[in-house]
Formats: sequence, C-alpha cells, structure tokens
Amino acid sequence: MSTNPEVLSLNTCPDRLPISPAMALRLLSSTEVDLTAVTAAAYAAKERFKPKIITYSRKVFLPLTNLCRDYCGYCTFRRDPRQTGAHTMSPDEVLEVARAGEKLGCGEALFSLGDKPELIFPEMRSTLRRLGYKSTLHYLEAMCELVLCRTGLLPHANPGLLSPEWLKRLASYCPSLGLMLETTNDKLLAPGAAHDQAPDKIPARRLRTIEEAGKLQIPFTTGILIGIGETLSDRIRSLVAISQLQQKYGHIQEVIIQNFRVKQNIPMANWPEPARGDILRTIAVARLLMPEMNIQAPPNLSAPDYQDLIDAGINDWGGISPLTPDFINPEAPWPHLDELRRRSQSKGQTLKQRLPVYPEFIPPLLTRPGLLTEKLICAADAEGYARGKP
Ligand code: SF4
Repeated sequence: MSTNPEVLSLNTCPDRLPISPAMALRLLSSTEVDLTAVTAAAYAAKERFKPKIITYSRKVFLPLTNLCRDYCGYCTFRRDPRQTGAHTMSPDEVLEVARAGEKLGCGEALFSLGDKPELIFPEMRSTLRRLGYKSTLHYLEAMCELVLCRTGLLPHANPGLLSPEWLKRLASYCPSLGLMLETTNDKLLAPGAAHDQAPDKIPARRLRTIEEAGKLQIPFTTGILIGIGETLSDRIRSLVAISQLQQKYGHIQEVIIQNFRVKQNIPMANWPEPARGDILRTIAVARLLMPEMNIQAPPNLSAPDYQDLIDAGINDWGGISPLTPDFINPEAPWPHLDELRRRSQSKGQTLKQRLPVYPEFIPPLLTRPGLLTEKLICAADAEGYARGKP
C-alpha cells in the first residue's frame, strides 16, 4: 500500500486537479506499490466527471484504402500496391458494409485509410482516375457523403494530415474527425525508429492539423500511442500539448491512450509491448491531467482483463464493431457487446452507446443547417446518446 504523501493527497484533495506536468511525470515514474493509489485517484476523478457511465460507439470499420505513403514501424494495416491484401474499397463495397452495420444497430461509419497514397503510387492514381476522383481525399469526401445520404450512419474519418480547407470539407459530412497525435517526440523520425519513413508523422504538422480543427470548432478525436520508443517525459509532453489545445479551442472530444501491440511481419516485431502497469499508470495520469475530458482506451488491446481499464479512469471504450474486424489490430478482436456490458456492470458502470460525436459536442453542430444536422437529430436521443439503443 502506498505511503507516498503526494499520491495519497490526490484522493483527499480533488481540488488539486488537474495535476501539474511535473507531478504527472513523478506519478508516471512511480512504483508498483503506488499504482493502486494513483488509479484510485484517477477513478474518483472519472466518477466526478461522468458518474457511473461508460460509453462506446457501435461502428462499422471502412478501410477505404490500405495503400499508404508512410511506413510506420508498428503498422500492419498498410500495403504497397502489389502486396497481398492491398485493396481500395469501391463505392458499392462501402455502401454494402455500411448498410449491414446499420441493420446491426451501428451509429458510426469509421473511415480509416492510408495517408495520400497517390503521391507515391501510380497504381493509386489510376484507381482514383477510374473511380473519377482527383485524390484520395476527394474520394473519401464522396464516400462520407454517400454514407450520410444513403444510410442512418454518421461518418467519422481519420485520413491523416489535413489542411483547413479539407477539414472544413470533411466536416460537412462528418460530425467529428480524428488524428492521433501519437507523440511529440520527433526523434522517432530518425532512421530505424518507429516513424522513420513516415513524413506524415512529423509531430508539429500533426499538432497543426489538430489546432486548425480547433479554429474551425470541429469536434476532434486524438490521442497518444505508447510503447513506440518514446520516453515517459515525451508522454507527458504529448498529453500536455493536447490539453493546451483543448484549453484554447475546447474542441477535443476524446483522448485515446493506445498501447503498442507487437505483431509478426512488422519492422518492430521484436519490440517489447508496454507492461500492464505502465498502461494503467499512463491512463490514470492522463485522467489526472485532464479530469474533465473524455478518455478512451480500446478494450481489445488490453484483453483478457480489459475491465481493469475502468479502474484507471477511462470513460469510453471507443468504437466496437459487431460486424467488421479491427483492421488496424487484426490479431486482437473486439469483445462481444454483451460481454462488454457485463464487464462494465461488474465495475459499477452502465454501458451506453454514443454516436461518433460525444453528447456534449452535439448542440453547437445543430446550429448549422443541412443534411448532417438532420441526420444528427434523427440519430441522437434527448441526452445526445444513440437513439433507442441500450
Ligand atoms: S499507421 Fe497510418 S500512416 Fe502509418 S503506415 Fe499505417 S496507415 Fe500509414
């Protein structure tokens, strides 16, 4: 049991939140003995923020294209054009998957895709020409519009770096957009590091996209990826950068704490995964740094005992699909929704289905007339959760 007065005081003095970056670093470096007290303080902060509720988004995953111009060391999603499994979805495929998800009660169509593959692959340029689009972003925009017009799903897209113009264009069809910050450490761009050969992972450029989304007041999902070669100080710097953008613009709807999972056939196949205590401590510190922000950690990356993430202060499980696999982490299937509900209840939490935009971010969107607003009104209940779903 912890005897560390700094740790114990967190529980007795909640008005000390948010903690300072210096204290966050001390807690992140604290011992296993202190872990229970740190997570208890984080759980108490979560319960003050959103008591007894944990959310998830029932979604279909639409891997629009897995061609990507980047080569991140941990990525199993990306392909080169002639590699086995390389694929760009057709509009018919997009609609077929979205409609199947709609029948299963999904509210979100998550578009995930590689970053600007046409810049380096002539094959992608010819695919886009055949489909009738100038770029992957033009094609994505059309597919978001298609899903919004022809189904009851709301699109969420995370296509990588975006200019203000593209943020605005995609936000016409998506109530929220996303880009993982991952890390602020640009040393990970060095030869042999996780972001070697990944020009879209330059931290300053990612922060700029998130900031531009803030200027446009677009509800935005971001987060950090832990265990890819960053230091504990880097993690705090990344979380503080996100928190500062939230203080300035108020648009960060969700912060994901994602842990690196090792896979065969990736450049980082021999890297160690972050330890369980490390994951829980990072989530707890994120909660204590950002006591009133939505914090998410994916359950499939912490199986089998993923319910422990609740103890560390998360209030959201992220997107869970009853239909499509997790194409980013195909070795880690999503839990069954009944099981997710049961485990949430075992921790005293009611599981609620949210939309791709969090309830508190919906009202400003409804002031903009158009199809997106009409669809949002149909999809949301009086509290802003998914209508008619448990
Ligand atoms: S993580 Fe994203 S940007 Fe990096 S290689 Fe994979 S698809 Fe491309």
